[in-house]
Amino acid sequence: MQLYKEQELKIYNSLTSQKEVFKPINEGYVGMYVCGPTVYSNVHLGNVRTFMSFDMIFRYLKHLGFKVRYVRNITDAGHLTDDADDGEDKIAKKARLEQIEPMEVVQLYTVDFHNILNKFNFLPPSIEPTATGHIIEQIEIIKEILDKGFAYQINGSVYFDVHKFNENHNYGKLSGRNLEDLVHNSRALDGQSDKKNPQDFALWKKAEPQHIMRWPSPWSDGFPGWHLECTAMSTKYLGEQFDIHGGGMDLKFPHHECEIAQAEACNNQSPVNVWMHANMLKMNGQKMSKSTGNSINPDELLSGNNDILSKAYSPSVIRFFMMQSSYRSILDLTDDGLLAAEKAFKKLIEAMNSLPKLEVSNNTSNFDLTTWKQSCYDAMNDDFNTPILIAELFSAVKFINQIKDGKATISKEDFNTLKTTLDVFVLDILGLQNVSENNANGSNKLSETVELLIKMRAEARINKDFALSDKIRDELAEIGIQLKDGKDGTTFSTN
Ligand code: AMP
Ligand code: ZN
Repeated sequence: MQLYKEQELKIYNSLTSQKEVFKPINEGYVGMYVCGPTVYSNVHLGNVRTFMSFDMIFRYLKHLGFKVRYVRNITDAGHLTDDADDGEDKIAKKARLEQIEPMEVVQLYTVDFHNILNKFNFLPPSIEPTATGHIIEQIEIIKEILDKGFAYQINGSVYFDVHKFNENHNYGKLSGRNLEDLVHNSRALDGQSDKKNPQDFALWKKAEPQHIMRWPSPWSDGFPGWHLECTAMSTKYLGEQFDIHGGGMDLKFPHHECEIAQAEACNNQSPVNVWMHANMLKMNGQKMSKSTGNSINPDELLSGNNDILSKAYSPSVIRFFMMQSSYRSILDLTDDGLLAAEKAFKKLIEAMNSLPKLEVSNNTSNFDLTTWKQSCYDAMNDDFNTPILIAELFSAVKFINQIKDGKATISKEDFNTLKTTLDVFVLDILGLQNVSENNANGSNKLSETVELLIKMRAEARINKDFALSDKIRDELAEIGIQLKDGKDGTTFSTN
């Protein structure tokens, strides 16, 4: 029997602001769409957190036995610099600055995105469609919205008529805004805009002569509005109505609100049953932002090559750190937090690695493994509550350590439950990797050798033989091993 028949999964639905028992539209199948990255720059750690939350959700749904079709798109056109309907296309802007083709920008940062996600042990989505690969579908949707009377064409552009839509639909139902307030808080149109109302949004924009990313359409040579691609790709691969739509909290408005409006305008039904929003990542209490310098990219974090944190952290430690908080909470990245996560993760993995040597007795166990296993499921069934799951995993760690100290016993049957449950939750669902026995960087021998060189370098420095100490550091760097001197000594990372 599939696990989903035994386990009652509840998910917090942003549309209703409550946890609901999850019932897919077609029993046994789940359709999930997550807004992917706009590939105009290196993926940052905030993006990684959001995608990691949905990777964990994807993993748990699969574990429960659902056949999941997980669609995560790549935005490679239509996302403008001011996130609304003005400004330059983010990708075209980068192409102009770098003097390369927009598709070179797309390729460069799509590859970077995949490389980074691979380092963090992400599962690939089932389909990863691109906006530029679905221009025809987007044009067809615009035609349909025009036919239904919810859009207007003006000077080669097409805009969604929010006021018309709101006459018999509810624009703002996801973000809890209402149109009257939006009208109140909007700046008046500046006379440059073709829109009837500031709340309207672009479905198709006529390209100015300098706009290089353009496609033919019945209205003009131009490009689709940003919100449209997700409606086109989710409908194409998951249908007019599907189970889960996710993204970062910042996408709730206007992006997701506009997706709902577009789909309802076409099909007169709500496109998504459960809307899920992952919360933001901060650093040292401040919003992570490239412009203020309060940001760190994943490679800098993994290599230790940064001025913000004291050392390098392995992908699993960072993943563990992120999983220690609920996907719906704001998470603050700090050195202390990462150090604590590293310690805790090591303890967990050490306990798991000690299992083969654990003495199994014929006695009964002093720990109720059946109840514990169900508590792990209960945590995940409660809107994917990974911090509670981790607390449960540590009850098992405590028990394992008690057995090692001769203060507790475990039966053979319970031992098997313990081992498989830990493997399932730690490795398959949280997506952590058991690399600690070999050190986070790969091999035990490598780390022992580098530790030896670090020691020899320290001795050289004591003897004021700086030529030798620099030689050790530089030659290690040449083969891709970086040394980092911190207040607690020297650490190393590999790239
Ligand atoms: P973008 O590439 O800007 O379209 O963003 C890709 C995804 O990352 C979206 O789901 C965003 O909501 C999410 N995101 C952006 N910044 C952060 C952040 N600081 N913390 C968490 N998620 C973020
Ligand atoms: Zn989207």
